[in-house]
Amino acid sequence: EASERESMYLVSEFANTYFQNIMHKTDFGKSIGLSYFKERGFTDEIIKKFQLGYALDEWQAFTDEAIKKGYQLKYLEKTGLTIVKGEKQFDRFKGRVMFPIHSMSGRVLGFGGRILGTNKKAAKYLNSPESDIYHKSKVLYGIYYAKQSIAKEDNCYLVEGYTDVIQFYQKGITNVVSSSGTALTPEQIRLINRLTKNITVLFDGDAAGIRASLRGIDLILEQGMNVKVCTFPDGEDPDSFAKKHSYEELAEYLKTNAKDFIAYKASLLMEEVQNDPVKKAALIRDMVTSISKIPDRIQKEIYVQECARIMDISEDVLFSTLAQMGKKEL
Ligand code: ATP
Ligand code: MN
Ligand code: MN
Ligand code: MN
Repeated sequence: EASERESMYLVSEFANTYFQNIMHKTDFGKSIGLSYFKERGFTDEIIKKFQLGYALDEWQAFTDEAIKKGYQLKYLEKTGLTIVKGEKQFDRFKGRVMFPIHSMSGRVLGFGGRILGTNKKAAKYLNSPESDIYHKSKVLYGIYYAKQSIAKEDNCYLVEGYTDVIQFYQKGITNVVSSSGTALTPEQIRLINRLTKNITVLFDGDAAGIRASLRGIDLILEQGMNVKVCTFPDGEDPDSFAKKHSYEELAEYLKTNAKDFIAYKASLLMEEVQNDPVKKAALIRDMVTSISKIPDRIQKEIYVQECARIMDISEDVLFSTLAQMGKKEL
């Protein structure tokens, strides 16, 4: 119901202001939350811009304050900000730095909260649950801040995490969004598709990041969009890399290292494949599977040509493989 959703938006907006006030105006907030963000290299300006905050390490500090201000427990529970157990109420987010998640139009839908220090027992990031206002598969972190520059640059950088978005933004690369923990979905790609046809995937260099990038490629191609992939040196993610480099170095790195998906797949597996015909065949088949997702026939042909060249195989056999795949899908 519309008015219920409106009440959930209002509670979320209140929480957003509350977490920011705690961070900027209390001793714990300043010494724990704010200093955490400073250590990560975030400026006051970017901290304010992205409305970062801090949730006290107490059982119900937030919930008590919200109730006192007249917000109904019902909506605190529906947004997941409060967890109700019988007669008792607990704050979902405790002792975490807070990242509000905005809709395309700037409304607060939910939060991500990061644990501080070395509490290894708790999950590093905790997110608001799926709710009537927060549909995770349809949201991209940072889209509210990035939408104009995505359209202007006619390209969107897609990263994995909250801090990747913020660090890039701070460095001056503002056309950046993140799927933030959920596997990339067609709905998320459609949000970008409204602004540009070009996505550059910048996932972490670890195994999980590579796997996610490969899944993402086919989803992007299916929507008739162009996809490039740029990887970072071992152990780096976009945040850690950007933190160490100037805007010029970062922009130059992205420009020189962004590969189209054929070249990316080749670079991932070529070494392994060199002397192994079976593996080489599997890689080629995988490339052709991705090519088969592309709706445009001319683009298909161009990628077939590239694949043939890189993998040293005839275009004919690639086209007939493509045709076979098409038949199987019918
Ligand atoms: P940081 O730099 O703060 O350590 P990160 O963003 O580099 O974090 P990754 O481990 O690379 O973290 O994960 C990428 C993204 O996946 C995170 O930003 C977060 O949105 C999500 N994520 C990571 N760990 C979890 C978790 N335990 N639960 C839910 N989401 C998570
Ligand atoms: Mn990672
Ligand atoms: Mn990361
Ligand atoms: Mn990181």
